[in-house]
Amino acid sequence: MLLATNAFGRQLEPDLAVVPARNQVMITTPIPDLRLKGCFHYHKGYVYFRQLGDRVLLGGARHLDLAGETTDSFDPHPGIRTFLHQFMTETILPYAQGWSIERAWSGIIGRGDAKMPIVKTIGNRSVAAVRLGGMGVAIGSAVGAQAADLLADCW
Ligand SMILES: Cc1cc2nc3c(=O)[nH]c(=O)nc-3n(C[C@H](O)[C@H](O)[C@H](O)COP(=O)(O)OP(=O)(O)OC[C@H]3O[C@@H](n4cnc5c(N)ncnc54)[C@H](O)[C@@H]3O)c2cc1C
Repeated sequence: MLLATNAFGRQLEPDLAVVPARNQVMITTPIPDLRLKGCFHYHKGYVYFRQLGDRVLLGGARHLDLAGETTDSFDPHPGIRTFLHQFMTETILPYAQGWSIERAWSGIIGRGDAKMPIVKTIGNRSVAAVRLGGMGVAIGSAVGAQAADLLADCW
């Protein structure tokens, strides 16, 4: 068995050193002539945004309530969403008109004291591959390959 539930790993294997970190995310309606070149980070990377098509994708601000966002509940955080909306209005789009937030949601990353993922056997024929540290898109396939090798060793 491969346990690949990342931030939710401790629900099934409490000894795993992975904690959930919820992030609020939002995206605008289309904005004509939007030109944000690159990926942008603010406040040590806690706030991040970039252009996605003709919209702005913005997320984070977990630093405003680190304890409150250490959760595997997908509930919204109203205070952080208010901050992000204000940041969008005043810092990213002070000159744009006629846009609104089309959708807001939350996502949960698996983090811990170490920046490396956990890829290890947790039983006779079980492997855990968790704590992708908010980098799962980038490193997920390599972590999956390592986990598959470990699983093969179990047989
Ligand atoms: C806001 C945000 C921004 C991110 N930005 C980046 C980025 O810029 N670059 C990057 O590389 N990565 C980024 N990531 C991280 C990346 O999305 C994750 O690391 C990646 O999704 C982890 O993949 P995963 O399959 O291990 O876990 P997840 O995608 O979290 O999948 C875990 C799955 O397990 C399921 N699950 C939970 N409990 C159970 C259970 N008991 N039984 C069965 N299934 C269960 C869940 O429903 C879920 O589908 C970001 C993540 C978030 C939330």
